Amino acid sequence: MRTSPTDLITPVRPMTKVAIQQEALAILARLYPEALETPCAVPILRFLEEDMEFEYGLRLVVLESMWPREGGARPQEHPDGAGISFSQDRFDLLCRDNVSARFLGAHEFGHAMLHLDQLQVERQDGVPRFVGLKLRSQVKPYMDPEWQADTFASHLLLPEPMLRLVVNDLGWSESRIAGVFRVPRATIEIRLSSPRAA
Ligand SMILES: [Zn+2]
Repeated sequence: MRTSPTDLITPVRPMTKVAIQQEALAILARLYPEALETPCAVPILRFLEEDMEFEYGLRLVVLESMWPREGGARPQEHPDGAGISFSQDRFDLLCRDNVSARFLGAHEFGHAMLHLDQLQVERQDGVPRFVGLKLRSQVKPYMDPEWQADTFASHLLLPEPMLRLVVNDLGWSESRIAGVFRVPRATIEIRLSSPRAA
C-alpha cells in the first residue's frame, strides 16, 4: 500500500535492509527453493492463497472494495482473523499476473510475515483502529512498516543471489529481468542503483 508523509502508521520493530533480505530468502527457501536456484517468477498468488494459510495459519480474504486502499494486513483481533485482505479488482489483476499487483501481493505478504504479531487494534466508538499510530514523517524509515514491506517485496520477487547472477554473470537487460521475474521496472532500477546487498 503506497503512503504519503501525512499518513498515520504504526512504527514496528527496526529492521535493516540486510535483515529483511535474509528474511525474504529464508521464506523462499521454505516455500519455493527453486527461486534461489534459477531465475524465475515467484508464485505470489500461491503464497497468498495456499502457503500463507497452510504454513502460517493466515488467511487471504478478497473484498469487493477496500476503498481507498487496495490491500492490507488483518491482526488477530479482526473479525475475519489474522491474514491479508485484497480488493477484488487488485486480486483479479494478480490472477492475470499483472506485475504491479504481484508487487502489492508481495508487499502485503511482507506485512503478514514481518508485522502481524506487532499490530494491536482497539475499538473507538465501535470502529477498530490500530494502536500507537504516528505521522509517517515522524517515523524513522527502518521502523516504517511500509518501507519494510516494500523492501521485503523487492527481495522476495527478485532474490539478491539471482539478481547478481543475471546481471553480473549473464549480462541480462532490465527488460529481460522484468519479463522473467515478473517485477516492475522501477523495482529493478532501485535495486541496481543501490549498493550491493542493499
Ligand atoms: Zn503496506
